Amino acid sequence: MKAHDGMYIGGTWRPAATGDTIPVVNPADEEVIAHVPAGTAADVDAAVRAARAALPAWSATPPRERAALIGAIRDGLAARQAEIAETVTAELGAPLRFSEAVHAAVPVLVAGSYADLAATYAFEEKVGNSTVYAEPVGVVGAITPWNYPLHQIVAKVAPALAAGCTVVLKPAEDTPLTARLFAEIVHGAGLPAGVFNLVTGLGPVAGQALAEHDGVDLVSFTGSTAVGKRIGALAGAAVKRVALELGGKSANVILPSADLAKAVNVGVANVMANSGQTCSAWTRMLVHTSRYDEAVELAGAAAAKYGDRIGPVVSEKQRARVRGYIEQGVKEGARLVAGGADAPREQGYYVRPTVFADVTPEMTIAQEEIFGPVVSILRYEDEADAEAIANGTVYGLAGAVWAGDDAEAVAFARRLHTGQVDINGGSFNPLAPFGGYKESGVGRELGAHGLAEYLQTKSLQF
Ligand code: NAD
Repeated sequence: MKAHDGMYIGGTWRPAATGDTIPVVNPADEEVIAHVPAGTAADVDAAVRAARAALPAWSATPPRERAALIGAIRDGLAARQAEIAETVTAELGAPLRFSEAVHAAVPVLVAGSYADLAATYAFEEKVGNSTVYAEPVGVVGAITPWNYPLHQIVAKVAPALAAGCTVVLKPAEDTPLTARLFAEIVHGAGLPAGVFNLVTGLGPVAGQALAEHDGVDLVSFTGSTAVGKRIGALAGAAVKRVALELGGKSANVILPSADLAKAVNVGVANVMANSGQTCSAWTRMLVHTSRYDEAVELAGAAAAKYGDRIGPVVSEKQRARVRGYIEQGVKEGARLVAGGADAPREQGYYVRPTVFADVTPEMTIAQEEIFGPVVSILRYEDEADAEAIANGTVYGLAGAVWAGDDAEAVAFARRLHTGQVDINGGSFNPLAPFGGYKESGVGRELGAHGLAEYLQTKSLQF
């Protein structure tokens, strides 16, 4: 792959102003597979200027025309699914089947949903003697992580375009090749130059420059809570709109009436998917004391079945972090029932599918986001206890509740301080709002709520 064509600014491909590049590593074999431009503040500035220049015409483009172009992006994503899956597998390490079924497929659904919403959304409504207009916020700075590289991009860019905003994207430095494919697809779809721009580069350099740029009207960030707090502080100081999708420590609450085997097996699978690198993963399994031992046995057996079938984590840094948490869990007295901190292979950033029992709520592994294939099983005495444990972290992104019937599970789910809950398994809905309570974030992505993030309202009174 050529290093000189990695950044897409104002409709053309260019290297970084400095000429520097960043290597991209395949986490499955630790080989360098490509280099991309290492963008700096100068490149970010060029991209923001291009986005600002394109804003008047794009925001005045009728929603139906914007919808047609988002539809063309959807078609481009659909046509290149195989290539997308291979690219995600190469730079993230996800097994190809998972890349095909999730990483390459979900963005088609999400882009499609915004092609539909752009065409049907009420950008103008009557409220009594007023007409209320939903107008684009302006230039969006989108900063995305590596764990679902294309989904995170599409979940920001598609609604921003639908709203009439223009965009500068700074994708994660670990997975820039998927972002470059996306830029090619946008280019192929025929969007006007400058409506979408891509700057690759390091977070503290290019990401920081984008978050600080006064030509950006809204920063939409997905990533760690630590960086999210800094971006929120910058936005606050500048009185700038901000959307933050941050970390999680979601609870999988298995009530006594649930189908235990199903709840445990689906629960373990939920954490092992994407090697545990899912912000909404149900990393804390909460089981009633009467069924605890049975659940631990089922979870250990379920994790052992994964064996070699999960991919590596994304980087050496991430592997060291996950192993550190596993060691910390052992040190604090949790009981390993599957996996452990030792390396399963000589090459690649692999971590063993790991299950801990006898985890108590105050332990580090029950409080902090591990972002690896690690399940912690906690015991509760009654529903009040389960509720306190489930709500007892700084996070509130997602969760699950299992019970003998949906009504019982729903009643408990309403007591959780979290943005999204799967009832008896649930299934992905690209139109359902996704986002966090508490330190898991500010704002929502997906569906009409996700579109509203990129709009501001003006009312005219008659
Ligand atoms: P990260 O915060 O280090 O990086 C995310 C993005 O921010 C990357 O593009 C990075 O380059 C950029 N960045 C880093 N430092 C920056 C700075 N100082 N200024 C501006 N940008 C900067 O997180 P990560 O390690 O890439 O991702 C893992 C984390 O993201 C996990 O905590 C996970 O829970 C969270 N996450 C949340 C969601 C969600 O929807 N809530 C989704 C995916 C990941």
